[in-house]
Amino acid sequence: MTEAKTDLYGLTLDELRLLLARAGLNTVHAARIWNRLYLGLAADMDGLDGVPERVLRHLRAHARLGILPVAAHAESSDGFTRKHLLGLGDGERIETVLMRFTGRVTACISSQAGCAMGCVFCATGQMGYRRQLSAAEIVSQVVHVARELARGPEPCRLRNVVFMGMGEPLHNYDAVMRAADILRDPSGMSLSAARITVSTVGVVPGIRRMADERSPVHLAVSLHAATQDERAALVPAARKWPLDELMDACRHFCRTLERRIFFEWTLIEGRNDSELHARQVGRLIEGLPAQVNLIPLNPTAGFGGSPTRGEAAKRFQRVLAEEFGLPSTVRQRRGIDIAAGCGQLADPSPRSGS
Ligand code: SF4
Repeated sequence: MTEAKTDLYGLTLDELRLLLARAGLNTVHAARIWNRLYLGLAADMDGLDGVPERVLRHLRAHARLGILPVAAHAESSDGFTRKHLLGLGDGERIETVLMRFTGRVTACISSQAGCAMGCVFCATGQMGYRRQLSAAEIVSQVVHVARELARGPEPCRLRNVVFMGMGEPLHNYDAVMRAADILRDPSGMSLSAARITVSTVGVVPGIRRMADERSPVHLAVSLHAATQDERAALVPAARKWPLDELMDACRHFCRTLERRIFFEWTLIEGRNDSELHARQVGRLIEGLPAQVNLIPLNPTAGFGGSPTRGEAAKRFQRVLAEEFGLPSTVRQRRGIDIAAGCGQLADPSPRSGS
């Protein structure tokens, strides 16, 4: 049986040192390898320049660089969004999105191939669950986007990462948090925890675990409805983790970490966008250090709703601000023409028979 090669993107710096030590190699070379991986953004083992040949020989024999090949890419007509369909080693495919806003660039990263949560308005949910991504596959997406940015016409560094792509991050907790740790390493990618956001549909044990483990990254909770029945109709996972348990977990998170929490609300015309709905969500989260991010629904093949238009979103925001003192934003629409918006990511041609 051939030995499975270790994917370098899945290792912390300490684990990389250990890998060298176990091979009888000087651990001092780990820093150079790490530098070439995350500052040089090496595209293959040959890009690990400055690393001694005998170390490279060992790495070539026992390790690999899990670069995810690009199966397709698309750029939005306004040039602000670029979406990549990336291949995984077993034939699964995931989407990763790079979005440019005024003054910042954000990578939207997938944590699973498909998703088991089944939110009715989400293309990933509509395709079903395929498998978990490894920490290496998550890190590799970020490196891919960072490399594209660094080598583009206006080179810049990637600073913001949101786990809002395909999959429920807290359903793949260990791999997501390990990837975040790797990406935060100050001698490598050096992403600030304040610029990493994990978005969950309400996986209560994961939220509690983030609080208890004092996770440094931000949390966004997708609410979409403020009553149990309305929520369960949009987010089937709410049947497993009811709204009252979810809110208890959110309070625990804010109290334990003394940190603000973000609530996401997909605005669906005529369904959850009235002033009454705004009051319901205001009452639900009143007292929490919170911000509400309103996201006009993006179209998907499997859901017939329409996005809330202009004035209704403003009225919703006014109720939150004036009656509850809650700050809110309306998400800038990005990449809708290439199906790169919130809830639109999916493998466009899932293979049959699996
Ligand atoms: S919205 Fe998120 S949690 Fe819900 S189905 Fe889509 S990817 Fe999964």
